[in-house]
Amino acid sequence: MEVVFLGTGGGRINLINQVRGTGGFIISGTKNIQVDPGPGALIAMKNNNLSPLKTDIMVVTHCHIDHSGDAAVLIEGMSHYGLEKKGTLIAASDFLEGSTNGPRISVFHYSRLEKVVKALPGKEYEFEGGKFFFKKGVHEEFPAFGFILEMDGKKIGYTGDTEKYEGMEEAYDGCDLLILNAMKPDEDQYKGHLTSEEASALIGRIQPKLAVLTHMGMKMQQYPAEKKAQEIEEETGVKTVAALDGMRISSEQF
Ligand SMILES: [Zn+2]
Repeated sequence: MEVVFLGTGGGRINLINQVRGTGGFIISGTKNIQVDPGPGALIAMKNNNLSPLKTDIMVVTHCHIDHSGDAAVLIEGMSHYGLEKKGTLIAASDFLEGSTNGPRISVFHYSRLEKVVKALPGKEYEFEGGKFFFKKGVHEEFPAFGFILEMDGKKIGYTGDTEKYEGMEEAYDGCDLLILNAMKPDEDQYKGHLTSEEASALIGRIQPKLAVLTHMGMKMQQYPAEKKAQEIEEETGVKTVAALDGMRISSEQF
């Protein structure tokens, strides 16, 4: 199993300027799972020799455009040019049904999916070869979620966009790899997002084998992110890396 980071940037300024990409990441194992395909995910897949035709499951953790901008075009890939009814979409309710920011899926794209799963925190979804455990997300006014994925003998946790909430350490307990959307450094706290200090506290409590920071905004990048990851590693004793666009992490590393 391998995790490929297509885009590791977050926040509006980074998004528009594409300082770091915003394509989310792909977990390739028994199933190929695409997570948060923001703008640029399609091109980043081409640049990383990944075929959208091979995606089995797409996960959209909330309907902000930096997590979902390329979802429609990649559904056309997952469904073999839109010619078949193929693939599973797991998404937050807003993405599917809409309120202020959604729906972000057309009737046509919806019709190309073999299965649609509305992810509700606390619920699970089992597929052939693995299982998702959906976790709470607290992200502005939008329905958002994170998850633990069990596949190929490993547990991968992903926070999605969320602020720190009570019980979050317990929610991600037992992860081998923990991927955190750490958009802001401590001194630039922003509602609905984890700061690096909160990420560090979580990593210290959860003690995954490997922690990866991603979805980083401009201030995190300027810190720079690599220095922040190093500081977290010293604080927690957990190997911590700041993801880079195109970075590949093999399951042998966690
Ligand atoms: Zn967001």
